[in-house]
This record gives sequence, C-alpha cells and structure tokens, in this order.
Amino acid sequence: MNRFNNPEPKLALENHLNYLLNEVKQLNFPIKLSAVAKKIGINPNPIYINQPYDASLILHDDKVRIALKIGVDNKRSLTSWERFSYAHELIHCLSYDLSSIPNKRIAPLPNKLEEEHLCNYGAIKLLLPTKVLQRYFQNIVSTGTSYMETIKEIASVSECSVPMVTMELFNVNLIKPTPNTIYILSQRGSGYQRKDIVKPRCLVSIYLDENGNKQPFLASQQGLQHVRLNDDDKKWSLLNFFERHELNQITIQNEIIYNDKTGMKATISGTHTKFTDNSLIWSELNVEKYSN
Ligand SMILES: [Zn+2]
Repeated sequence: MNRFNNPEPKLALENHLNYLLNEVKQLNFPIKLSAVAKKIGINPNPIYINQPYDASLILHDDKVRIALKIGVDNKRSLTSWERFSYAHELIHCLSYDLSSIPNKRIAPLPNKLEEEHLCNYGAIKLLLPTKVLQRYFQNIVSTGTSYMETIKEIASVSECSVPMVTMELFNVNLIKPTPNTIYILSQRGSGYQRKDIVKPRCLVSIYLDENGNKQPFLASQQGLQHVRLNDDDKKWSLLNFFERHELNQITIQNEIIYNDKTGMKATISGTHTKFTDNSLIWSELNVEKYSN
C-alpha cells in the first residue's frame, strides 16, 4: 500500500479510490463495483468456490480474481454483506501488479492485520464515498427526515447495511453526536461472523460525555445483558423492549443502569424505536448522571 506516495495510508487510499470513482463516473448510489473492478484491471465477475471465507482473492489462469463462497446464488445481485466482502477484496487487488502475467503481488507483505484493516476502511470508502454520502445525507435531512429514517433510506439506495451506514455517518461527522447522549443501534443476532449464541446485541454505540469526549459504552456485537438495572435483576428497558413485540417505541425516564463490564453507572432518559421493516432498534438516551 505504499504505491500512492503518501505517508498516510488511509488518506492515500481514499484519495486513490476517489480518483477511480471519478474515472468510472460512479458518483451516485449504489456504487457499481464491477465498474471499479474493470478500472483496477481485474475481471469483475466473481468465481464461486468452496471456501470458509465469504470472499477471497485467487489466482485463476495466472490472473487475480475475486472468489465468493459457493452457495451464493450467482443469479441474484449481491447482498450488502457480499458487496462489502467484494469491495474488501478489490482493495487487496491494489497490492498487485495486474499488468504482469502471472499477476504478482508488489506491495510488501502485510504486518499482521494492518492490510485487513486498511481493506475494511477502503471497502467502506468505496461503497460510501464521503462526498456522495454527504450529498445524499443533506438532501434527505433537509426535508426534515429523522436520523433513523435517513439511515434507512441511505442504506437502501447505497445497497449497504444499516450498521455500516450508521457507523460511517458518525465517523465522518454527518451525524454529530450530542454530548451526554448515548446512541445505540441494536439487533438480535449471533455475533461476529455469526458464530455465537443468538441474543440481543449492540451493533453500533456512540457516547460522548459532557465534555465531548468519547466514552466506552457497549462494544460492537456485545450482548445487551451487560447493561443492567442498578438495583435489581430486572432487565433494563432496551433488553425488555426486545420482547415487547406489540410496541414500536417506548419512552423511558430516569432509568438507573449499570454496565457490568465497565463498571459505568448512569441515569438515562429517552426513547427506543423499532425500524419498521426489520428487527433493528435505535436508541437515543440522554444521560443525566454518569460515574465510573
Ligand atoms: Zn482481506
């Protein structure tokens, strides 16, 4: 990844991706990954093989190709997760000289997970280029749409997952978290790479204290049961809300919660709201008292 002549690999990568997207005129959602693949110099059609990974790079007839796990129906379009995996592999392709036959790796061998992190970063910037994201976001929120509805709409048009869009909107500061507010996107699921038990889990959570400093609240994929009511064994409001199928929203007032992982204690008020067309819950909670 040192080919872009820039000391900051993430910035260099993002600049290069923006250059590619401009060249292939992909400045609207959804970003057409096949156009980017062609521009990079690889055959955009994935090869389907039996492998433990969702996606990988393989050498096929001396050429680098993206391989997707067999069982993925190649007639239908890719899911948001497959698009992310495909985009991740496209970023790996930038480490190869694709004009030599056989294609050869030219980047230095990666240091531990460094290249994986860079590929994840690049995949997000390829699927949700900041300028494009900004344009859609501003167009939608200017009509008075709530953050939750805006996230849903962008996820739908960009063909990306709701958690990825949420995280990225926070990362690029399009959604500016209000100090003293905890934001949580949660869903019942089986954790990282779908390997763990199914339970309500945090997907994204952001919390800024009153000085605007980021504080840990719940990690991605962490079970919501780590937050408890302070004074007894009853479930806290969000965990409880997962069982209230008849309700679309609940408002809570002065709930005292305790995080058994971080030792954090807080008094919260706010709302938990269901996304209408799937099982996600969006929480916006004002924090009155906080201690660690
Ligand atoms: Zn990788």
